[in-house]
Parts: sequence; structure tokens; C-alpha cells
Amino acid sequence: MNVNQSAPPLPPFGQSQPVYPGYHPSSYGGQPGSTAPPTPYGAYNGPVPGYQQTPPPGVSRAPPSSEAPPASTAQAPSGQAAYGQFGQGDVQNGPSSTVQMQRFPGSQPFGSVPLAPVVSQPTVLQPYGPPPTSAQVTAQLAGMQISGAVAPALPPVGLGYGPPTSLASASGSFPNSGLYGSYPQGQAPPLSQAQGHLGAQPPQRSAPPQASSFTSPASGGPRMPSMTGPLLSGQGFGGPSLSQPNHVSSPPPQALPPGTQMTGPPGPPPPMHSSQQPGYQLQQNGSFGPARGPQSNYGSSYPGAPTFGSQPGPPQPLPPKRLDPDAIPSPQLNELPPQQKTRHRIDPDAIPSPIQVIEDDRNNRGSEPFVTGVRGQVPPLVTTNFLVKDQGNASPRYIRCTSYNIPCTSDMAKQAQVPLAAVIKPLARLPPEEASPYVVDHGESGPLRCNRCKAYMCPFMQFVEGGRRFQCCFCSCINDVPPQYFQHLDHTGKRVDAYDRPELSLGSYEFLATVDYCKNNKFPSPPAFIFMIDVSYNAIRSGLVRLLCEELKSLLDYLPREGGAEESAIRVGFVTYNKVLHFYNVKSSLAQPQMMVVSDVADMFVPLLDGFLVNVSESRAVITSLLDQIPEMFADTRETETVFAPVIQAGMEALKAAECAGKLFLFHTSLPIAEAPGKLKNRDDRKLINTDKEKTLFQPQTGAYQTLAKECVAQGCCVDLFLFPNQYVDVATLSVVPQLTGGSVYKYACFQVENDQERFLSDLRRDVQKVVGFDAVMRVRTSTGIRAVDFFGAFYMSNTTDVELAGLDGDKTVTVEFKHDDRLNEESGALLQCALLYTSCAGQRRLRIHNLALNCCTQLADLYRNCETDTLINYMAKFAYRGVLNSPVKTVRDTLITQCAQILACYRKNCASPSSAGQLILPECMKLLPVYLNCVLKSDVLQPGAEVTTDDRAYVRQLVTSMDVAETNVFFYPRLLPLTKSPIESATEPPAVRASEERLSNGDIYLLENGLNLFLWVGASVQQGVVQSLFSVSSFSQITSGLSVLPVLDNPLSKKVRGLIDSLRAQRSRYMKLIVVKQEDKLEMLFKHFLVEDKSLSGGASYVDFLCHMHKEIRQLLS
Ligand SMILES: [Zn+2]
Repeated sequence: MNVNQSAPPLPPFGQSQPVYPGYHPSSYGGQPGSTAPPTPYGAYNGPVPGYQQTPPPGVSRAPPSSEAPPASTAQAPSGQAAYGQFGQGDVQNGPSSTVQMQRFPGSQPFGSVPLAPVVSQPTVLQPYGPPPTSAQVTAQLAGMQISGAVAPALPPVGLGYGPPTSLASASGSFPNSGLYGSYPQGQAPPLSQAQGHLGAQPPQRSAPPQASSFTSPASGGPRMPSMTGPLLSGQGFGGPSLSQPNHVSSPPPQALPPGTQMTGPPGPPPPMHSSQQPGYQLQQNGSFGPARGPQSNYGSSYPGAPTFGSQPGPPQPLPPKRLDPDAIPSPQLNELPPQQKTRHRIDPDAIPSPIQVIEDDRNNRGSEPFVTGVRGQVPPLVTTNFLVKDQGNASPRYIRCTSYNIPCTSDMAKQAQVPLAAVIKPLARLPPEEASPYVVDHGESGPLRCNRCKAYMCPFMQFVEGGRRFQCCFCSCINDVPPQYFQHLDHTGKRVDAYDRPELSLGSYEFLATVDYCKNNKFPSPPAFIFMIDVSYNAIRSGLVRLLCEELKSLLDYLPREGGAEESAIRVGFVTYNKVLHFYNVKSSLAQPQMMVVSDVADMFVPLLDGFLVNVSESRAVITSLLDQIPEMFADTRETETVFAPVIQAGMEALKAAECAGKLFLFHTSLPIAEAPGKLKNRDDRKLINTDKEKTLFQPQTGAYQTLAKECVAQGCCVDLFLFPNQYVDVATLSVVPQLTGGSVYKYACFQVENDQERFLSDLRRDVQKVVGFDAVMRVRTSTGIRAVDFFGAFYMSNTTDVELAGLDGDKTVTVEFKHDDRLNEESGALLQCALLYTSCAGQRRLRIHNLALNCCTQLADLYRNCETDTLINYMAKFAYRGVLNSPVKTVRDTLITQCAQILACYRKNCASPSSAGQLILPECMKLLPVYLNCVLKSDVLQPGAEVTTDDRAYVRQLVTSMDVAETNVFFYPRLLPLTKSPIESATEPPAVRASEERLSNGDIYLLENGLNLFLWVGASVQQGVVQSLFSVSSFSQITSGLSVLPVLDNPLSKKVRGLIDSLRAQRSRYMKLIVVKQEDKLEMLFKHFLVEDKSLSGGASYVDFLCHMHKEIRQLLS
């Protein structure tokens, strides 16, 4: 038994083993590692239960019906000519200034932001409130009414930011200019019923129990000591916060800094009529706003209210319903003089700021490495750059939890309503400074496991009886230590070799798997990649086919490899298709590639075995010849119809015949309407939005794709789908196979080479080079008391415990929810072990193990103090996005709001110090929950604007399903960076500002990104010198709106901005196409959609309004 070794990080293992090199975005192809691990395998007595798939070996049917290619393969004139048919020059791709204008007659002049007519908002970052010493944030409620007063000024709901119909010209100009794919909705599609749908479960979260046990502070009084001090130092949420003196399991509280009183001034506040309150000023004591007056503001609803969980609609008159018995009725808003109306608002600077929280965490936790030796530590935020030292628990890059302290009982968990979930990214890529997991080889005996629960050896196993046996930390079973694994214990009961063995000292490591872990008890062959290219009319005309073939010629040299291999072990194959499929024989011995056509798409088979999947370097000449010929062969095609399911079927059959796992790369353009299995019809119907039938838009149209996906998973056939639609293609149905096989979907609406090639090629390169684990099974084991009950992500499950992944790459996460099935023990905590069995790119069968220990608590305050809101939002978004398959979106939104209110009400009731009901009190770790939740609620999936297509929504829905925490964080709350505020020389990224129009200064330039979209917003009064430096034009008016590439200019500002754009792109898993937006230009509506703290045109509430609404909900729960 031998731990492969090379340069150690922490414990002295000898040498580290970079067997699994990370992806290097800049380099074309990863750096080869140094050593190839040895592969001595042998028999093992404990085969993995639950992994006994025995698909029949592939059988090829019927002799190939080969024909000559349709067009002469020799005629190909060299490349350029064909571009002429789609290249329309820049005319089509520019700002399209003539097209979209009329769509927005009422575009709002900058500065007339409805919500902020009076308060001037400096664009520089303002710390909200007192430094984060106070964990209880309190807010006056008056803003509810006030903010409502301005709502009628909003443009009518439903006015899209995108120009839906007016852009139906084929130019495909601005709407697709980089968003996840809006395209002209030319035709009103026929309505059709979905037949069959994904067998998704009904929402499992029943309406949470109403908090009947809640008592108001006045009557019942708080049972918990108030939280008045700074948070425990060890917990480190960006600075001092609350301490809870009565907690045993926590580190000692820090000294209480003076002046950290949280609540508002004592004594009854002076009665104050709402119309007399002078706006809400920040208070030193941690309250939001001034002393609470009588709750006159609760007396009525506000116009924003209908949008919470309800259908967007035009602003409604205020029902003067009184909710608060203490409230003094206030005059109707429209009776107030206009000036007074405008003064009633919550100061946005006085409510919790995501920017501030992010900055504080960066400042407090960015400098020290995060050492994983301590159980239940909350890691730094995903927005903080930090290094990780593995000392026994998995890095937060692999696993993040909603809480690192789990309630001991299910009753407590139900009371708090905080979901207990882990977002797991088993193959996460690591920064170069951190070592890849060591690979442990236990020889022919295979990895050591518990006999009963099959958990793998890990640092939490207890060795007893002098080291001859070990007690399983998951199920308590006592197991014998095999003689070859025996080692003596030291005086503390620890094995003396603990630090020489990754599996005894690290949170994450790998085992070489024995043949028992392999399908059919046979070691796997290296995987294969099959490129399947739509060559119908649209694909040819847009230039896609030519671009793709050209790119593949070089890209094939950069297939993933590992362990220092000189070339990739992955074999490749090629198929083109429209209504029929064309297979290519690219055997190295051929002078020219041969094409074989299969037109019987109803009964797909692979017409050739030998010569279909080949080694790139051996067959290079033939492959290059093929890629040269494909665009020419189909250059004159008139075929517009395509098939889809048979293409996947063919690829899967080819892998089956070759007895290997692999990945299909499908490049597809249109709704597959040709007569074939999986044929689809256009069933898009926007009239279903906000009806009970809206869910059908998200459900697949036919069950055929799910059946197909199941076959693919059994074969280890992962499908990546690149879509290039000009109209509705039914993403909800087409993405079923990629989704269930662990694949990815990319969408380029109205693809035009000259507009979109950079984005497409960048995504393609990254996707092809990704390190992938194939034919994988993941199992999450837990210690007694909790168990995994629900899973979210791109995978397939045929039973309740095993997550099956035909492929899994380093970007994909699997989210696991846990429930109690017994009482947990504070002393022993709770353990998770995620085991991923997979085939590496080189064909090696391995197990990757991640272990994580969590604390358990008997005090609710400990739960609230150790939560991670970013992870919570990730989970809640996935939960909601799955919910829309089965429930009306309104129900889904209401469920989220209710749950959030219950979480916060439980805190208020059990953990917060007594204070007046008029104060909103949020746990320090969750103070961003309302703002982030609001972003989820008003996202395109849950509350679409008029311009968001059905395909967009389905696309985003499946993207979010496997996003990690960092991705959902920036996706729901975009990053807005001022570019000219900080000195040009400053090397660091400028600090972000809050995503609100109020934060924009018209003399500045901003970048906004959310992981998918990237905007450069230019203020109308920006200095001429800046305009010249960036755009090489002399004035603002000359800047081309919608520009997607900045000119390369030799000056510091231009270099800095372009460098920043590059750096943002490098941080994201998909290429973000730039869109330049000028202030007050029509495109600005598109941009404003991402200013998520503002009220949205689709009816989404502003942050301030939503916070008030949450407060109302909480108060209702508490009363
Ligand atoms: Zn066990």
C-alpha cells in the first residue's frame, strides 16, 4: 500500500501528487502533472453495493448502408466564399439604433428615479449603519407606506426592457447581444398541451407550520438572554457581532465594545405622525432609523405589496387595511403634499448592504488561510479570496453548508425552518496554491471501509484495542483492521502514522478503485468525445458550421489529459445531421474520410465501429480533411428540418459499441420537427404565464427524452448541448438529456458569427478542455441522526441514495438536503462523507472522498450564528426553481416568503433581545437574507418580464440547478463596479457599489456582471477625456450603443478597463459578452433589469419595499 507522493502541503505525506491538474483558463490545455500513478489492482472482497449495472455489451446491428456523400468532397474551394452568405458586415450588429427606439417612449430620464427624488446619493460606498458590531438591525416601518407613494410613477408593468416584436428582423441585433438569449418572438406559437412530463416530485415542503407558539415579546417575554455583545471572535462574521453568554459550545465571547447597544432608545418614543418624520437617519446605536413612532405606517398596504408572491400587475390603490392595533391611521397618501410624500422613505444606506458585508468579510478574513481543522467553522464568504489548508475537513471549495451548526433535534430544526443543506462540488478546481487531493492506493485490497455502512476510512474513524480495530464514526460499528493496515496508537489513541496517510488526516483525498468498482468487473476504457454537428440550413447560413469545423482542427489538440500524459487518451468521433445522420470513418489508414448516411432515424444504429472513434494524433490528416470538407459538403443545403433524439441515441449507441463512457457535444439550431422519435412541436404559449398551467412551460413536452437520458446514464454518456436558436426551440425539453446526464447547456440566440463567435468559441474551448469525471456515482453518508433526503443538480437517480452522473465536471454542484431521523449529540457533532466513484479522463477508476464535521446545538442562537446566507440562497433558489415544475410560480414565491419570514421570526422570538415590535431585527449572519431572497423572487424564472422568453426561463432554470454558491451569489445580486472612482493606477479591483440606479453617477462609468451578462454603463456627463480614452471618440453622443468590443487603445484607462473585463471573464465559467450601454439610451432598460435593489418592471419589489414586507410578515407570525 502506497501513498503516492510528491510535494506536501501540510501533513508530511512525502510528495504531493498533482494527478488532477486544474483547468488553466489562459493556457490552452492544462499543464501536465508530473507523475502517472501506478495502477496495481487486484481482487477486492467488498464490491460497492448499488453499483451493479450490467448493460449488455454494445451490439451493432445491420450492415452499414453507406452511400456516397451528397456532394463531391473534392470540390471544396477554400474557405472564404461561404462566409459571404451570412456575413452582413457590421450593419446588422451595431447598435441597431433604428430598430428598438420606438419601444420605449417613456424611458425615464436619469435622475428621476421614482424612489429617490430628494435624497442625493453619493455613489461612493457608504458603510451602512454602525460598523458591524451590531447584529440586530432594526428598522422603522414607515417606509412601507412611503415608498408606495411613488409607485404610480412607474411605467406600466409589463413594458419589457427588451424589444420583443419590433426586433423580429433577421438581423438578430440587440436583444440577443449577450443575454442568455432573448430573440425576436416573431410568431405566436400554437398552444399545445404537454404530453407527459418529467416525473418530478410534488413540492416536499408543505406549508411550514404557522408559528402558533410565537408569543409577542410583550405578552410572553423572551426566553433567551438578549444578544447584546459582539459575535464570538472565532466565528468571525466580518467583525465583532453578538455573543451569547450562555452558550457552552462556543468560544468565549469577546469583550463587549462600548456602545454596541442594539435596540432603539428606551422608553416610549414620542408619538410622531408619519408625515412628520424627517426621513430615516442612521443611528449610532445600531437601529435603522429613528425611534419608532406609532406604527401608522402599518395602517395601509403599499403599492409594491401586490408583487410579493402575487402576479405582477399594475399598481393598485391602497387598501387602507389596518394590521397593527397600535397604529394610528394615517392620512391617505394622496392627501399628503407632494413634498412630504417624497420624504418618507427608509434611507437605503440604513438597511443591510451586501457590499458592506462582502467588504467586511474580505477585510477580516481574506488575509489568513482558512484552516479546516476545527469542527463547525463557518468559512469566509464566497466573495472573499482566501486560501484553504486542509487539516481534516473538506475545503469550502468542495462543500458549503447552509449552517455549520445543526440543531440537535428535529423539533428545533422545524421551529427554525432553516434548511439544512450542503452544496457539494466534488471535482472543484483549486487555485494553483492549493494541492489537488492525494491519490491513495491500497493495492488489491482496495479502500478500507466500514463493514456495515460502507463509509470510507477517514480522519474521524476511532482506532481502538491498540489499533487492531476501528469504530465507524458514521454507524458506530466496530471493524477489524486488516493486518496490512495495522499500526500502533500513540498515547492519545491516535495512530502513529496518522499524518502520513491522507485518509487519516485530510478532509479530501482519492482512492484508486479496484476492479470491483468497475462496470462488469472490467477496468474501463478511456472515454470518447463525439462531436455531432447540425448541418441544416440555419446552421450553415449563420456560419456556425464553418466556424466550428475550423476551431475543432486546433481544439482537438487540447483534449483533457492527466498525470503528465503527452497526449489525451480520449478518442474522438464525428457525426453531422439534419433529418438524417451522417457518420464519418476517419481511420488513420484512409486517404479521405468516408461518410455513411443513416436515414432510418426511427431505429438508430451505428453503421461503423472501426474507424469511428479514433486517436486524434493518429488520424489527424483524415480529421483535418473531414473538417475542411464538412462546410463545403452542405454549403448549398436547403434542408431546414432537424432531428434531435436520434442524434443522442446514435452517440450513445456508439459509446456502447465501443464499451466506453464519454461525452457528446451537440451543436443544434432548431426545434426538431422532422419525423423521428423525440419530434417536438411548438407549444410555447405566453398566455400561460401566471396561470396554473405555467408549469407546463417548464415540463418536457414528451417523456421520450427522459427515457433516453436514462439509457445514456447507464452507458456513462454525458451530453453537452450548444443551442443556436432563431426562435423557440423548447429548451425545457431539449435540455432534459444534458440535465440528467450531468451535461451543460449553452444558448446563443440568433447566432451570427461576427457577433457571437468570441463567446461561443470561448465557451467551447473551455467546455472541451474541462476535466470531467465519467460514469460517476456519488453517495453522501451521514452520521447517525441525520440523513440525506433530497438532491438538486444535473444528475439522475434511480434509487433514493445514489446520485448517478454520466459526467461530472469541476463547475457542477450537487446540492443535498438533510433531515433529522434521530437526536443529534452536541459532543459528537454530525459528520458528512461524500464519496464520488468516477472514471478519470485517462480511464482510471477512482474514488474521491470529502469529509466534513459539523457542530450540533441545543440553542437556536447557535444555529443562527453559524449560518451562511449565500448557501441558503443557493439552496432556496434551487428548491424554488424545481418547484415551478409542479406548482404555480405564485405558490412557489409565497412558499419562499413564508419560509424566510419563519426563519427570521424564530430568531426574533428566541434569540433577539426584547425590543419594540416596530423594529426589524435580523440575525447578523442572515441580515442579507431579505435582499437576496427578493432577488430570487423577482428573477426571470419566478417573475418574468414581458421580454423574457419561455426558452430563456427554462435555460436559466436548468443553469441555476447546478450552480455553486459563488455563481448564485453574483447571478442573483450582480456586481456593479465603478471604473473611474478609484485612481487609474490602482491595481486592485474597484470596490463594488449596490445594484441600484441611485448608486449610479452620471459622471462615471460602471461595469455590471452577473456571471452570464456583462454591461459597461456610460453616464451622460462623463468627462470627454474618459470617453476619448476608452472609446476613441470625442463625445458621449458618438459612443456606439450596444458595442461589444472596446477599442484597444494605448492609455492607462483603456488598459485598466479591458484588463478588468478580462479578469471578470476569467472568474466565470461562461464567457460574458460585453454590451456597452449609454445612459438614457434604450438599451439602458436591459441594464436596469440587473439593478436588483430597485423595483423591477416585471413587478418585482424594491429592496426597501421587500424588507418592509418581510417585517410585516414576521410581525404577523409573532403576534
Ligand atoms: Zn459504519
